[in-house]
Amino acid sequence: MLFRGSFRNNLVLFYSVVFLVFIFLMLAYLFKREKDYRTGALNDELHIVVRITDNYIISNSIPDNGNYLLLDSIVELLPQKNLRVTIVDPYGIVLYDSSVPNWSSMENHIGRPEIVQASEKKFGTSIRKSESTGQPYYYYAEDLESYYIRAAVIYDVNVENFLAARKNFLLIIFAAFIVIWLAMLVITNKFSVSITKLRDFAQHVGKNEPFDFESRFPKNEIGFIGEEILTIYNNLLQTKNDLATEKEKLFSHLDALNEGVAFFSKDRSIILNNDHFIQLMNMISGDLKIFTYNFSEIPEFSEIIEFIDKYSNTDISSPDLPKTEYQVAKDGRFFRIQCVIFNDKTFEVILSDVTKLGKSKLIKQQMTSNIAHELKTPVSSVKGYLETLLNDPGIEVKKQKYFLEKAVAQTDRLTELINDIVVLNKIEEAGTSFRVEKIKIKRIIREVADNFKSAIEAKNIKVEIEIEGNVVVMGNKSLVLSIFQNLIENAINYAGDNTIIRVIIYNEDKKFYHFSLSDNGVGIPEEHMSRVFERFYRIDSGRSRKSGGTGLGLAIVKNAILLHKGDITVRNKTGGGIEFLFTLPK
Ligand code: ADP
Repeated sequence: MLFRGSFRNNLVLFYSVVFLVFIFLMLAYLFKREKDYRTGALNDELHIVVRITDNYIISNSIPDNGNYLLLDSIVELLPQKNLRVTIVDPYGIVLYDSSVPNWSSMENHIGRPEIVQASEKKFGTSIRKSESTGQPYYYYAEDLESYYIRAAVIYDVNVENFLAARKNFLLIIFAAFIVIWLAMLVITNKFSVSITKLRDFAQHVGKNEPFDFESRFPKNEIGFIGEEILTIYNNLLQTKNDLATEKEKLFSHLDALNEGVAFFSKDRSIILNNDHFIQLMNMISGDLKIFTYNFSEIPEFSEIIEFIDKYSNTDISSPDLPKTEYQVAKDGRFFRIQCVIFNDKTFEVILSDVTKLGKSKLIKQQMTSNIAHELKTPVSSVKGYLETLLNDPGIEVKKQKYFLEKAVAQTDRLTELINDIVVLNKIEEAGTSFRVEKIKIKRIIREVADNFKSAIEAKNIKVEIEIEGNVVVMGNKSLVLSIFQNLIENAINYAGDNTIIRVIIYNEDKKFYHFSLSDNGVGIPEEHMSRVFERFYRIDSGRSRKSGGTGLGLAIVKNAILLHKGDITVRNKTGGGIEFLFTLPK
């Protein structure tokens, strides 16, 4: 409010002063013109008086007879009021004065300004108080060689008279002033509303406080500017928010990375880094007390510092930013160190632990040789049976059938193996892009149990499914089927006869159902427990092969569950048998 008042007051004061100065100057100018006009008119008037007086003097031969008193009659005849006529001889002696009866006692007039002027030019004028009458007079004198004639009238062009004569004019000016002043108040008030709003806006924004963007600015130029500023500010705010979101995304992306990423300024101080960066820095330097600001002191990073130094005075162009990459080994682990320098000489350092990469390469190699090995056994069996048949054409029909059946069994095994490998590969490739649907889980488990009906009956196994019929899991149908198929098939194959297979949901949370699938069979020796989910891992390969196992069943189960973002563990039950605990999403 204070600002608003002072702004308006200042504006009003300013305009008032300007207006008054203008009026004053205008009046001063008019006054000057009036004065000029008046003196001009007086000069003309008094010149005529001088001429008439001179003519009168000459026609009455007054200089000869010295009867200057005759002039009284002509002065009376002349129309000017208070006219005063003075005749002064060339030496300044007053010869006649219409207003002073005893003129002979008047002082010498040779020094009077109008007389001095008249002796030099055509005529002389002067405005001053008459020493004889005390009134302001306009004196006009002409040099007529044998005497000066001076005519004077009371001079009434003063400020009061001038203003008094322009009373109406002044009143109009005053009224105009009031009207303009009021209009100004209204206008400045409007402007000051806009300016006050702008100021409030600036203050709130400056203090990072919320501002009521709904209230509009008045419709005037400043209001328009205010709206524009507000729009620009809103756009800026939007951009700032968008940037903040992007930054947020970048941060979470950085945190989700397995690599350590850090951005450094030109002077090598840290701008941004994720947690991994510090962890990896610690691992690489072997010093847990290392912080990002020690970056340039770590010997393992000296190559980066050299690299940056090399480019410190070189211009960098966008498409091919300078990059460097090298590896260091520390405590049996391998780390990749990468660095990119940007146009503005800021740089990014990426640290990654590549020890695992080496490991997974190893695992892949093992997998390939495992697969080759697994395939080789049935293929060579089939080959053996077929060769026997080919080499011995006379073989009896019963034996022939036996060999052929064996060969078919091996090809079945091959098919199964290939199917399992295909399923595993599919899971690995699927990543997150696999079809998900609502699955009534009890129905699926029942379906699996029905498929194994004959084996279950043959082994006198009981399957208990203690799950509500309406429980729905969100998953890929064939993978979920695969999970239960493998687990139930394993229990049938390995747990032993007269056992009970039990499937229950023992817990649930916001996102997952917690399943338990257990049997009360032989269980798994504790030392194998940690490896049963590995591909091709079997406890008793002879028994497993006999029962048609590929060693891939539990690997498929684990990967399928992981793909659903669930988890699986296995443990031996105290009363015998094993229990798989796993989660599937709701
Ligand atoms: P396989 O194809 O040989 O069955 P899996 O990966 O499914 O391979 O299982 C790995 C090993 O775990 C099996 O060879 C088996 O010895 C053991 N196993 C799996 N389930 C059970 C179970 N319910 N009871 C006892 N042993 C089991």
